[in-house]
Amino acid sequence: MAEKITPRATDYSQWYIDIVLNAKLADYAPVKGCMVIRPRGYALWERIQQGLDGLFKATGHVNAYFPLLIPESFIKKEAEHVEGFSPELAVVTHAGGEKLEEPLVIRPTSETIIWSMYKKWIQSYRDLPILINQWANVVRWEKRTRLFLRTTEFLWQEGHTAHATAEEAEEETLKMLGVYKTFAEDYMAIPVLHGLKTDAEKFAGAVRTYCIEAMMQDRKALQAGTSHNLGQNFARAFDVTFQTKEKTLDHVWATSWGVSTRLIGALIMAHSDDKGLVLPPRLAPVEVVIVPIFKNETKDAVLAFARKLHAELASSFRVLLDADDQNTPGWKFSEYELQGIPLRVEIGPRDMEKGQLVAARRDTGEKAFIPVAEAAGRLRALLDDIQKSLFQRALAFRQQHTFSTDSSAELAKLLDDPGGFVEAGWCGDAACEAKVKEETKATIRLLPLEKKSTEGRACVACGKAALHIAVFGRAY
Ligand SMILES: [Zn+2]
Repeated sequence: MAEKITPRATDYSQWYIDIVLNAKLADYAPVKGCMVIRPRGYALWERIQQGLDGLFKATGHVNAYFPLLIPESFIKKEAEHVEGFSPELAVVTHAGGEKLEEPLVIRPTSETIIWSMYKKWIQSYRDLPILINQWANVVRWEKRTRLFLRTTEFLWQEGHTAHATAEEAEEETLKMLGVYKTFAEDYMAIPVLHGLKTDAEKFAGAVRTYCIEAMMQDRKALQAGTSHNLGQNFARAFDVTFQTKEKTLDHVWATSWGVSTRLIGALIMAHSDDKGLVLPPRLAPVEVVIVPIFKNETKDAVLAFARKLHAELASSFRVLLDADDQNTPGWKFSEYELQGIPLRVEIGPRDMEKGQLVAARRDTGEKAFIPVAEAAGRLRALLDDIQKSLFQRALAFRQQHTFSTDSSAELAKLLDDPGGFVEAGWCGDAACEAKVKEETKATIRLLPLEKKSTEGRACVACGKAALHIAVFGRAY
């Protein structure tokens, strides 16, 4: 219940954990760093999966499944890849009561096993493109973990595509970045910046990594999805060549892209409040909860009225009727606020007489009286409005906390108070990026796709002419 939730202003980190645990989204697992995703959290993940899967299929992708265990030698084939992932690998050395001849790595990501298979499947340009996505779990041994945001095992999707030309691979990389941006903004109601990661922040083994970045309510950045142009790195490592139209031999061009259960953490931190979860209607497992309000003498009539309404709405809404007579309406109200159900419909004896219902919005608490005959249309309009309002509220918040400066002192000050994104000049030198990180704990979140003018702008670290306007922020 709400009284168990630490207010955001008191302790934001504790507020987040309180929401996850009290709304029963996830729990701690016996193995440190792992999490149990509880039914309510999993229902949310299923909504995310359905939405994304639809967008992947609409852009020509198909699903497949590759094994959890990867021969250790595969991971070592791509130099940057192995260097990037080695510290996080979990390795199986014994199985079937024996020491294995070759240790097996539990996948931290699947590029290597998938490209070992693409070698078998690709001979000619006619075999391309391959546009495969996989829904799976991966393991990255993490020292500091937080439910949904960073856990040792997590669920995700990973797209792995193979192309005949560099241009096609780049086009795919940007297309999927666009899909992620659409999903974040239209489904999750979270505005995101999209752009390029610097070399220091890119994926181990990628030529270029693009990302979407969102601002949380504590004004920290959260990387919500990445799309990598892998060039020919993995094709070279796994010797995947194909005969081109011109009958020459070339290495295949690759992309990979992924989002994970981390998105649930983003949803919580972008929208929720001190009463509990706030969910965008498009992703809410339950959109509308009906709470009948009755006394003993009105119980049968009110319940019959509520059941009829429930039956009418069930064909076009994800709707729940709470006909329980043990808990009070007040208890139910706060319970459904905690769960983040976007609309609560109340029906009492007087509403029933007037042929109306009361609809209460989770996001604003506003109430509307709606004639029962108009219920379906009016409730749908309210849900659409909640979806839009959540996005607008998050966008206004991000705009209020986005600043611009080329002064390192000012950058540090803004990051401390009020916090947010700071657009600052950068000369392109990794040493300058590292210096800012050391001094302020902020990283370059991205170089925006829509390049801003660098005229008259200076590098925030060294003062030389800026090559880029980079977005700095402290991140999860
Ligand atoms: Zn510099």
